[in-house]
Amino acid sequence: MKPKINHSGLALPVKGVDWLHNPIFNKGTAFTDAEREVLGLRGLLPPHVHTMDEQVMRVMANFRSKSSDLERYVQMVSLQDRNETLFYRVVTQYLEEMLPIIYTPTVGKACQEYGYIFRRSRGFYISSEDRGRMAQILRNWPVPDVRVIVVTDGERILGLGDLGAYGMGIPVGKLSLYTACAGINPLQCLPITIDVGTENETLLKDPLYTGLRQKRLRGAEYDALIEEFVAAVEAVFPGVLIQFEDFGNHNAFRLLERYRTRTCTFNDDIQGTGAVALAGVLSSLRLSGGNLADQRVLFFGAGEAGLGIADQIAAVLEAEGLPLAEARQRCWFVDSKGLIVAGRDQLTANKLPYAHAHAPCADLLSAVKAIKPTMLIGVSGQGRTFTKEIVQTLAQYSPRPLVFALSNPTSKAECTAEEAYTWTDGRAVFASGSPFAPVTLAGKTHVPGQGNNVYIFPGVGLGVVATGARRVTDAMFIRAARTLASLVRENELAEGRVYPALTRIHEVSLAIAVAVAEEIYAAKLATVPRPADLAAHVKSHMFQPEYPDYCPHGIPQMNLAGVR
Ligand code: NAD
Repeated sequence: MKPKINHSGLALPVKGVDWLHNPIFNKGTAFTDAEREVLGLRGLLPPHVHTMDEQVMRVMANFRSKSSDLERYVQMVSLQDRNETLFYRVVTQYLEEMLPIIYTPTVGKACQEYGYIFRRSRGFYISSEDRGRMAQILRNWPVPDVRVIVVTDGERILGLGDLGAYGMGIPVGKLSLYTACAGINPLQCLPITIDVGTENETLLKDPLYTGLRQKRLRGAEYDALIEEFVAAVEAVFPGVLIQFEDFGNHNAFRLLERYRTRTCTFNDDIQGTGAVALAGVLSSLRLSGGNLADQRVLFFGAGEAGLGIADQIAAVLEAEGLPLAEARQRCWFVDSKGLIVAGRDQLTANKLPYAHAHAPCADLLSAVKAIKPTMLIGVSGQGRTFTKEIVQTLAQYSPRPLVFALSNPTSKAECTAEEAYTWTDGRAVFASGSPFAPVTLAGKTHVPGQGNNVYIFPGVGLGVVATGARRVTDAMFIRAARTLASLVRENELAEGRVYPALTRIHEVSLAIAVAVAEEIYAAKLATVPRPADLAAHVKSHMFQPEYPDYCPHGIPQMNLAGVR
C-alpha cells in the first residue's frame, strides 16, 4: 500500500519547480507521468521515469566510486538535502555500509571539517545572542509537529573535544539514525546546536568557522540560557523528547539531574551508552556462563560513558537483590590521575560512589594487577592505551575476559579487535565503539561487537513517541538493555558477537520500543491510552521510506490539510 502524504503541517509546494527543490516532496526522476503533468513538472526532468530501486542503484554506484569517506558523507548529506525519501531508503537498505559514513567514525571528520564541506544549512542554531526570544525564534522552524529533538552545545564531540558550532553534524546524524533504525518520521525530528562559543583557538581563528567568535559562556549565564531553551522548546513543541548529546561532562551530568524529573529528556552519552554497554555485558555472560554479581569491572575513563555504564550495572545488581553500595563495589575506575580510591583529592560527586577503600594505583597496568578485573571497559578517549601487557594480565583472571574499547573514533579505540583476540589467543569477548572487521585466528573467525548506541536510542525514542511518555527513566534503559541482550541469537554468540547483526536493526528497535512502551505504561508515564495491541500500535508509528502518489487516478491530491 502506498504511504499517505505526510506533510506534518508543512506548506505544500506551489509551482512545479518547488516540488523539485523541496527535499520532503521531491521524487526526482521518479515523478510519474501523471504527476509531471498536473504538478507542472513537464520539461523540468529528463523524460524517462525511474523506479525508486533504479534511483537507489544510481546513488550506490556513486557512493562506491568515491575515493574517501568524507566525500561519501558529503554525497549523502547532499542527497538528504535534495530528496529525503530516497536518502532514507538508501540508508535503511544499506545500513551497515552507511552507518560508518553518516555516523561514527566519518561524522567526526565531517564535524572537524564542517566549515569546509558546508553547502546548505541543516538543523537549527540557537546562539547566546538569542537570549530573551528563543521561543519566537524556534517558531521559524517550518514544521510544527516536532516529537524528537537532539541538541548539542558542541563542547565534547565524540572523543574529539570542543568543536563549537561544527558539532551540528552530531544531532543531524543522530536524528537520521532515529529514522533509519526505528522509523521515527523525519519531519518530526529537529537537530539543534546551541552555540555558546568555543575554547577551540584553531576554530576561532579560522575564517570559514561557522560559529560565534567568542569563548564559551559559562556559569550562571550558561545555565540561564539552557533554562530558557528548555522552556522555549516545551512551549513551542509541547511533549517533545529532548536528547542531550555531546555536552562537556561537567554540564552533562548537571543538566540531566536538573531536567530529567521536569521534562521528557535523556542524555545519550550517559544513559544510552550505559544501556548499550550493559547489554554487551549481559550477552557476554551468556557466552561465559557467569553471573553479573561475580564480575569485577574496571573502567578506563570516568566520564559520562563510564559512569553511565557503571550506574546501570549497579542498578541491575540492585534489582537482583544486592544493596546499592555493595553493587557499586563491583565497578572500579581509573581516570587520568590513576585508580579512583576513597580519600583521593578532587573527586566529583559522580565519582564518589565508586571511590572504594584501596591503596592508590598510578596507572592502568598496576590497577589491573591490583583489582584483577574480569571485564575491562575503555571509555577514556585515549587511543591504543590497552597494551599487550595490560590485556594479557587481564586474561589471567577470566577464561573469557571482556575487553570493550569503546572510545571513538577508530583512532581513539583503546585497542583494536585484532590485538584483543591475538593477545588472548582468541579468548577475549571484544566490542568497540567504532566498527572493526572480523578477525580470523587459527582458522576461527571472531566477529567483534560494535557497542553502538544506535542499538538503543532509536528504539527508546520510538517507545516514547508512540506512548507520548512524559518522562524518560533509567528503568526504561535497563529494560532496553535486557531486551537487546536477549535478542542476540545463539549463532551470533558463537561467532563472538555480543550484539545482534546490524541488519536486524528494525526488528531490534521495534522490540526495544515495545518493551520500553510496556515500562512506560507500567510507570503510568504515558499520555496516549494503552492500545489493545501495543506492538501493532508502536509499529504504526514507523515511517516507511516510500514515495507517496501525489496524483492517484491521475487526479492531483492537493487538498492535504489534516492528512497524517
Ligand atoms: P568524558 O570526557 O566524559 O570522559 C572521559 C574520561 O576519560 C574522563 O574521566 C577523563 O578523566 C578520562 N581520561 C582522559 N584521559 C585519560 C587518561 N590518559 N587516562 C585515563 N583516563 C583518562 O567522555 P565520555 O563521554 O565518557 O566519552 C569517552 C569516550 O567514550 C569517547 O571517546 C566517546 O567517543 C566514547 N563513547 C563510546 C560510546 C559507544 O561506544 N557506544 C558511547 C559514548 C562514548
